[in-house]
Amino acid sequence: MKDPLERYYRILEGNEKALYLLLRENESDFDSESCDDDLWSLHEDEMKTFWSHVSDGSGTVGTKPIEGRSLLDLKAELARRMMRRCEICEWKCSVDRTAGQEGRCGVLDARISSEFLHYGEEPQLIPSYTIFFSGCNFKCAFCQNYDISTDPGNGLLVPATRLADMIERRASGSETSPSVQATGRVRGRAVNVNWVGGDPTPNLAYILDVLRISSADIPQIWNSNMYLSEKSMRLLEGVIDIYLTDLKYGNDSCAKRLSGIPDYMRIVSRNHVLAAKHAEVIVRHLVLPNHVECCSIPAMNWLSKNTPEALVNVMDQYRPMHRAFEHEDISRGVRDEEYERVRDHAESLGLRLV
Ligand code: SF4
Repeated sequence: MKDPLERYYRILEGNEKALYLLLRENESDFDSESCDDDLWSLHEDEMKTFWSHVSDGSGTVGTKPIEGRSLLDLKAELARRMMRRCEICEWKCSVDRTAGQEGRCGVLDARISSEFLHYGEEPQLIPSYTIFFSGCNFKCAFCQNYDISTDPGNGLLVPATRLADMIERRASGSETSPSVQATGRVRGRAVNVNWVGGDPTPNLAYILDVLRISSADIPQIWNSNMYLSEKSMRLLEGVIDIYLTDLKYGNDSCAKRLSGIPDYMRIVSRNHVLAAKHAEVIVRHLVLPNHVECCSIPAMNWLSKNTPEALVNVMDQYRPMHRAFEHEDISRGVRDEEYERVRDHAESLGLRLV
């Protein structure tokens, strides 16, 4: 059976390139004066060509340095335009964030709350260069990172050139004195870039700007609640190597009550399917107390039918924090039997667990 992270490991071994670098090798001769519709249509055409090059390993990919602008530049241009009537996520607030108007997330310019080599992620992903953005488009009552997710003004404005440089240093391990571990990985050297928050979604344009100028051959991870608009998912196509998703609920009413999110299942399930089409996927599911039957079991059932190739991490570390005590059902920790019921069910469905 194919490893769910086969391509990721090939990048780590140096046998393939991170996808975003391939995008940068595809020229895109777009006119910045063109209307949005024309640029989107060009993007769709060029992505078809891009995927055909990736799948057969032929064409211009990797064969010549390009002189003009790349397909990644086109994506960054489209993301910047989307911020003017913001539709980066499914809230589609229509505010002009470039003119200082705040939408539901309150994020204007991207602010970085912290960045560091993370050793607490899934074993396949560490050490991970994790970049935490301030602000979020969800309002989860039980948010474990509420100090940064609820405060979009927290953190620093870091120029894209500076962050690209930091990524290159982390990817090369030049900020530490490396020592080889038994895994063959080098201690102190990041094996991926992990875009997270809050949520990375409101910062899509900034992230694409960073990648336009970074040249580190390192896999890109989108660590998100997956409430992106369909257009944003199209822009991430060919940029992201692994989606590290957070599938929180198994029905709309729990999502609305505990995270304030409408139409959760339709949007998040659509985006999981889109993600699995062009990238590898690790799905995280945090078991909530009293939500095994309404959320965890339906979520596992959905995954087994729709993204059976994904790696699944059933998580047991829920602790009530932030505003969790406003909701009786989630005001205690998760019990061993609740976690085991979900894990057993996932195993019985044949899901591949972390
Ligand atoms: S990112 Fe989402 S929540 Fe934030 S302003 Fe844009 S559409 Fe609204």
